[in-house]
Amino acid sequence: MPSRLTRRLFIAITGLGAGLNLARQLGCIKTRNTEPRPAWKAGVARVRITPEKSVWMTGYASRKKPSEGTLQDLYARVLALEAASGGRAVLVTTDILGFPAPVAAEVADRCRKRYGLERDRLMLTSSHTHGGPAVRGLVRAISSLYMTAEQERDVEDYTRRFAAEVTAAVGQALADLRPARLSFGLGAAPFAVNRRKKTDKGYVIDANPDGPVDHDVPVLRVDGEDGRLRAVVFLYACHNTTLGGDIYQFHGDYAGFAEAALEERHSGATAMFIMGCGGDCNPHPRGTVELARQYGQSLADAVDKVLAGSLRPAQGRLRAAWGAAALPFGPPPTREDLKTEAEDPKNPFKQLHARRLLEALDRDGRLPESYPCPVQAWRLGDELTIVALSGEVVVDYSLRLKKELGPEGLWVAAYCNDVFAYVPSRRVLEEGGYEGGGAMVYYGHPGPFAPEVEETLIRKVRELAARVQEERHFGFRRLRAAGALRRRKACAACGSPIT
Ligand SMILES: [Zn+2]
Repeated sequence: MPSRLTRRLFIAITGLGAGLNLARQLGCIKTRNTEPRPAWKAGVARVRITPEKSVWMTGYASRKKPSEGTLQDLYARVLALEAASGGRAVLVTTDILGFPAPVAAEVADRCRKRYGLERDRLMLTSSHTHGGPAVRGLVRAISSLYMTAEQERDVEDYTRRFAAEVTAAVGQALADLRPARLSFGLGAAPFAVNRRKKTDKGYVIDANPDGPVDHDVPVLRVDGEDGRLRAVVFLYACHNTTLGGDIYQFHGDYAGFAEAALEERHSGATAMFIMGCGGDCNPHPRGTVELARQYGQSLADAVDKVLAGSLRPAQGRLRAAWGAAALPFGPPPTREDLKTEAEDPKNPFKQLHARRLLEALDRDGRLPESYPCPVQAWRLGDELTIVALSGEVVVDYSLRLKKELGPEGLWVAAYCNDVFAYVPSRRVLEEGGYEGGGAMVYYGHPGPFAPEVEETLIRKVRELAARVQEERHFGFRRLRAAGALRRRKACAACGSPIT
């Protein structure tokens, strides 16, 4: 018979162990990533997507002829992840201006059928280089004014090849899944400058050193079982437009140079750039290949500094969520407005825009009232949330979301899954200018968004972020309900509000 003291000791130790376990599961206690087995599997693939022949480039309305050669090869890079607790997700980064919704849907559909990958688990991102090929349906107005029927066919052929190669690369990365460790950190790069300058004639695109910027460079490190760097993912919120429309050779701009520099410095590793909310930020100054290379090196240096420091491990859990925010348009133009615009000899882009809207009116009897903007959220471990926004999102969104959802462990990506328009904040919309509504002509929408655009998008982000973070917050709620925790307003680890 054990003595009463031994029995009490046994009960106390067992109780403490169970309590610690529960606390760990709920994320109240940080465990060091010291387990012998890696918490993840990762697979990597890289495919060259530079067109084999001359095709139209996209990004600048000033270009009036197709490409002439290659300055730097373009790539699609893929990182497949599988969590120890189950669940896969695949990140695709590409050196193109953006995925239009139908092309993204084509790739996603094939990935679902071939690899069983659901839409919320495939993130299709673009570097927004203005030195890449035109893809079917992407900012159609920019190139379709001058393209011949044969050149249109070349764009179609390229688009088919692109979609097929991206799909195949996703398969390669999934087939490459091997034990891996994930960790992340945060750096900074200084070259993004706000590009909305106030003048007597309204807001114009020019450097505005007093405007908002986001210089954060979040970094995700993927190591193999042997400790070697296999992939590094990094994000920066700055238009990928060091080079102008006078360059007719394919190139990945500063992001392409950053990726190339990191892959050269870390032999065997794949470097993947994600565009942040840099809709209204540019590198400054701009215009030369040397500057693009210089910004690429500066970004690569920022990433390397993070890699050399101490990073936070991400535990082996993975959650994903997908939804769409119906971004409302302002009052539509009338048929009379459009007829006048269609006859305006000064601006051929406006003429084309008005003609297409008149066709839509004849066909559907009305113009669309909103645009379904895809929003995606991933949660890696209990530490890292990646919010993937679509469109050319202005910097106000990343600054606001980091403030409201907690800056630690939150990535705000943009230019993902569908590049359909600029997405202004309420401030930018009300100030006007190119990002506020002027660019809608090129994207073919009826007019600027309504002022509710910002709250509509933020609401959807909060909903999806809460969904992927739910499990552990639910734990907090349960503990709080049981009186085990003092009332707290925010998650201790990620700062997300607990409602
Ligand atoms: Zn842009």
